[in-house]
Amino acid sequence: MSEVPTITRVKKTLSWSLLIWTLSAQPLGAWDSHFLLTFAALKNMPEIAAAPDVHVETLASFVAAEKVGLAKVLAENEAWANKHVPTYPHLPAQLAFSSAHPATATLQNAFLQSIRVKPDLPFALFLQYPPGSTHRIRHSLSLGNIMLGPLVADFSGRVAKGRVEAVYPSDKVPALEVIATAADEPDYGLDIGLWQDNHTPYGDIYGFGEQPFGNPTIFFSSQAPFHMGFFHESSLLYMLAGFLKRCYPEYRIHTYLALSRYAFRSGHPYWGYRFLGWAIHHVQDLTQPYHSTVAPGTHTAYLIFVNALNSIGITSPRKAVVQKVTQEHLALEDYYFRLLQADFANPAPSKMMQALMNARHDFHYPRYDDSYPRDVVAKESHARAAHADRLMQELDSMGESIGSHTRNVVRYATSSWPLRPSEPCPTRRDQLSVCPSAPQ
Ligand SMILES: [Zn+2]
Repeated sequence: MSEVPTITRVKKTLSWSLLIWTLSAQPLGAWDSHFLLTFAALKNMPEIAAAPDVHVETLASFVAAEKVGLAKVLAENEAWANKHVPTYPHLPAQLAFSSAHPATATLQNAFLQSIRVKPDLPFALFLQYPPGSTHRIRHSLSLGNIMLGPLVADFSGRVAKGRVEAVYPSDKVPALEVIATAADEPDYGLDIGLWQDNHTPYGDIYGFGEQPFGNPTIFFSSQAPFHMGFFHESSLLYMLAGFLKRCYPEYRIHTYLALSRYAFRSGHPYWGYRFLGWAIHHVQDLTQPYHSTVAPGTHTAYLIFVNALNSIGITSPRKAVVQKVTQEHLALEDYYFRLLQADFANPAPSKMMQALMNARHDFHYPRYDDSYPRDVVAKESHARAAHADRLMQELDSMGESIGSHTRNVVRYATSSWPLRPSEPCPTRRDQLSVCPSAPQ
């Protein structure tokens, strides 16, 4: 028998496995609040803390004012991506940004399509404030004004009690608040529905091809390939699942940093900080081991084994791996979120907050360049993945202790209870009242 059909079958199986990974109806972000992480990391950074407040500016105004310069920046960005991002699907020529669009509204849409994000989001002007802080500007916006409608329910418990503050072009606002607010934004729908099999008007024309993993019919899963970077898996896994290479956080980071640097150079600091926040989001995503690694703590050989079992109808081992990875992923995010949220209302910072603010290790890393997201951030995160998995298992074993101690207390308290059977009764737990050996 030829080897080709076998490999094809294994590839298909593996593809389905990864599909299941993202089948969860609950959105899997990397971190539950990029706002809190960013605010904590930058609040004492001199370049940000001492920066002057900036005038708020609409996206349409920025794009109209800088249409000539933006066309050049985006052309350079496209050339960079073609050269440096493996498997990069090039921008269709008709989407290349041109300053020739006459109407401002058309121009903004052309800009958004040229960077291939969801173009019909409101891109409202708004700020988040950290828990416990006083809101200065009294024009509250509901989350439906800043993100895709179906996401509102999920974010309402995480974003500023479900309300944010509208700001206006006449307002001057702190750089820190602009960056931190923007750092949350790529999870608000910017990368949803962009693949051709998502069947959206923009997915049909963006040229990204079919969604490489995740379920194209579950809308939130479509953002994953822009927010995950499986750059350091084994060559065997790449051989069997080449689609894992189709992850594009580097494209997002480079684009947003190019826009940010251009906005600063051309005198639009509000958009300089806002695009910077978008880039930071994708860098932070790569720090999450469950975003840089397909299955932390699970050897490639075991992944292949459980998929092979699955193909012959033994499905429970694969389901167990999927469930474990999903639960650990969510648990890690939840842990950080809850700790940080409590920290902002607490005058004594926790160790995690202190670690986020600690700048002593910044220069242990190489200076930032285009290879940094892959070769520094994702590599470090991938190296931590097995350890993160062990930590999560340690939490599981705490569950064993909790259960054992609870039962031991019950044994002690009920030791003289008259219903205690003199002989072990196998059905005692469920049928104590009818257990034949229990004294009446
Ligand atoms: Zn993300």
